[in-house]
Amino acid sequence: MNHAKSEALMSAAKNVIPGGVNSPVRAYRTVGGTPPHIMRGDGAFVWDVDGNEYIDMVLSYGPLILGHCHTEVCQSLHHAVDTGTAFGAPTAGELGLANRITACFRSVEMVRLVNSGTEATMSALRLARAATGRDLFIKFEGCYHGHADPFLVQAGSGALTFGAPDSPGVPAATAEQTLIAPYNDLEAVQALFAEHEDRIAAVFVEPIAGNMGMVHPLPGFLEGLRAACDSAGSLLVFDEVMTGFRVSRGGYQDLTDVRPDLTTMGKVIGGGLPIGAYGGSRALMERISPAGDVYQAGTLSGNPLAVAAGDKTLEILAREGAYAKLEQAGAGLEKGLREVFESAGVPVTIPRTGSMMCVYLGADPIHRLGDVAKTNTELWVSFFRGMLEHGVILPPSPYEAWFLSTAHDANVVGRIVDAAEKSLSALV
Ligand SMILES: *Cc1c(COP(=O)(O)O)cnc(C)c1O
Repeated sequence: MNHAKSEALMSAAKNVIPGGVNSPVRAYRTVGGTPPHIMRGDGAFVWDVDGNEYIDMVLSYGPLILGHCHTEVCQSLHHAVDTGTAFGAPTAGELGLANRITACFRSVEMVRLVNSGTEATMSALRLARAATGRDLFIKFEGCYHGHADPFLVQAGSGALTFGAPDSPGVPAATAEQTLIAPYNDLEAVQALFAEHEDRIAAVFVEPIAGNMGMVHPLPGFLEGLRAACDSAGSLLVFDEVMTGFRVSRGGYQDLTDVRPDLTTMGKVIGGGLPIGAYGGSRALMERISPAGDVYQAGTLSGNPLAVAAGDKTLEILAREGAYAKLEQAGAGLEKGLREVFESAGVPVTIPRTGSMMCVYLGADPIHRLGDVAKTNTELWVSFFRGMLEHGVILPPSPYEAWFLSTAHDANVVGRIVDAAEKSLSALV
């Protein structure tokens, strides 16, 4: 595969953009080589500037659940472009999207739109602190909640990949307010509550951890967090930026009996445009300015383009069979990959819920960051490079989740499995 034009662009970009990219994981530091510079997408496919075609399993790290350039989403966007891209005034579209979100998420009676997942979590933390009058909060090792200071402690995603979970520039006084526990370790959480008694404002958790690969909550873990928060008067916050509208229409909270106090969203709800949201009960959300006293604002919040793409995406997802289709694609790929890895004699662990999944090389159960760190990342990198060579773009780190879209039909899934078979046969 020729990457000459991508290489030229990357080296020019390094002069004017830090590391040549606008988000670290895109630089391919973990997997080596030059990231293909993408020129166009359509459905399950993308094309780079050198004319190479790939099946896309990145899907912008989750948002593109309908694939690239879905006809109806594009029509909505064109209409929004032609009628004005920003007003700084309320629009009917924002009401429509808020109605859709609150109808789908059981614990969300009111919702505020922001511009990214990062903004959603930092605003939810402010609200949790205001509502409880407390400063401390708990997060889990390997969970990523965006790049705001309080969360850049033992974070996942790009922060994990680069082995720099604590970034310079995060004040020690800020990091001290962040308490850390291993994922799925209820005893560690209970110990933190015992130590800090009534000083903990909230527990932030990805109900499925998707920024250290994909780690499911063990039975009882989320229930235990709910109970610990209730007895301490703390708030439970589900960060569903990745899982919201991805693992089901109502997010992960629709697959469990546990109800969070606050929920953060992003990715899918913007249909590929920048967006975030946070919501919860009326009583909590009416603390937000101007209904209440907790300040939070945004020049482009509720942007008409993002709202148009998001609302149309959620409308399409509400149609009969959308999630069944995503489940079918996910199940087909999981089965095909298991067979390929098994016949190659490579031990593998493939966690999956619907169209979100991950492939860990290693057979040991994975419940927390320490388990992820023991998987065979060297072999994983070789596998990644083989897949790229055979026309499949995976997220360029063993710590990122893989995604499928409604455009990933049986034919596309078959091609991914074929590429995996070829990639593995070159390795073992
Ligand atoms: C992606 C992500 C974020 C951050 O969202 P941005 O839009 O990148 O700021 C926060 N939390 C989770 C769980 C995510 O996956």
